[in-house]
Amino acid sequence: MNAVDIIIKKRDHGELNSEEITYFIKGLTSGSIPDYQVAAWLMAVLLNGMTDRETTNLTLAMANSGEILDLSHVVPIEVDKHSTGGVGDKTTLVVEPLVAACGLPVGKMSGRGLGFSGGTLDKMESIPGFRTALSQDEFIHLLKTKGLVLAGQSGDLAPADGKLYSLRDVTGTVQSIPLIASSVMSKKIAGGAQAIVLDVKVGFGAFMKNLDEARQLSKLMVAIGKLSGRKVIALLSDMNQPLGNAVGNALEVKEAINTLKGQGPLDFQEHCLTVGSHMLVIGEKARNLKEGRAMVVNALTEGRGLSKLRELVENQGGDPTFIDQPGKFKLAPVIVEVVSPKSGYLKEINAQEIGEASVEMGAGRVKKEDKIDHSVGMIVHHKVGDKVGKGDVLFTLHAKNEPSMLRAKERVLAACKFSTKPVEPLPLFYEVVR
Ligand code: URA
Repeated sequence: MNAVDIIIKKRDHGELNSEEITYFIKGLTSGSIPDYQVAAWLMAVLLNGMTDRETTNLTLAMANSGEILDLSHVVPIEVDKHSTGGVGDKTTLVVEPLVAACGLPVGKMSGRGLGFSGGTLDKMESIPGFRTALSQDEFIHLLKTKGLVLAGQSGDLAPADGKLYSLRDVTGTVQSIPLIASSVMSKKIAGGAQAIVLDVKVGFGAFMKNLDEARQLSKLMVAIGKLSGRKVIALLSDMNQPLGNAVGNALEVKEAINTLKGQGPLDFQEHCLTVGSHMLVIGEKARNLKEGRAMVVNALTEGRGLSKLRELVENQGGDPTFIDQPGKFKLAPVIVEVVSPKSGYLKEINAQEIGEASVEMGAGRVKKEDKIDHSVGMIVHHKVGDKVGKGDVLFTLHAKNEPSMLRAKERVLAACKFSTKPVEPLPLFYEVVR
């Protein structure tokens, strides 16, 4: 067996067997298969797809590429939530503290930005000192003693995904249902999650552009979960427009803090309350969604979620005074308002364009080794359905320099479409796949 034959088989629409997949994953993990061959294989998978059997085998090979964490002796039931990635999606920063404040321990392994979508680790690293690279012992200790921990995927857990993830980010191979499903589920399986709420994003700013694709991805992930003995539920949520108002790392952390104070954008708050309620139900803390919702609402209004976020930051070496005084976050040097060129109803705010404009300004990576500028991003002041007047502020751009601001300005204006007739607001959720 060799890597070239496996690439050629996939290029020619063949179905890889479990031995071939295991060989390839072992090779890329050990480094015996170089990045250029992995990149070629990724492109072949993106173009030609995989059968469900191949995807399940790929997921298991990726999960088995490192250690598999057993958390059954640490918490009664390890619950996780995972978003397939979107623009302005800072849900984890709000939901995990809220749910932990309701007594459900959460040990979350998060990822970095991928393509135009942001990543929780990058966001949390806006807080000076916050450490996301934890050893397994530290992760388990924090989960056991504090009930809340948020870390990067340790090198020992699904290392194949770490490698594939960063290569996909820079080879145009993110948008593939089998690659996304195996990436998400291998991490969850390796990370010891027993019950998982998947937040599957649909729309312009998601990897899944329409409901059919999102449904297909959700069903595949739920099926992989079942095969590996995990409880999985997928919520299909809107990502045509950015979630909440803030896009960009530090700006999103500030919005998460505001939301935990009860002062966040209503769409984002509602999104978090729904995801949190499902987590409490799947984690057997609440008997039903109504009870789960009452619990997360209480945690929010009593400020217990905010205290938990502060605790999380402190436990992982971050400076908690940034949570108390979000004004301490460094601002980008160029801050400019972009106004509406006309009046009317907002029909579209294309989240992918917004995400890409933010990445181009420096909020994400174009190359694997790029450094992120945490202060860069934007505030999106309106939602689809809003009536705006000519000259109303649509965006506030936070850029590191004038040229990148000017490019972003053009892009964000092009991302907006207007209608003279009233437009229905977009839904937050479409459906649930169990
Ligand atoms: N989230 C992941 O963990 N992996 C993907 O491939 C996409 C989103």
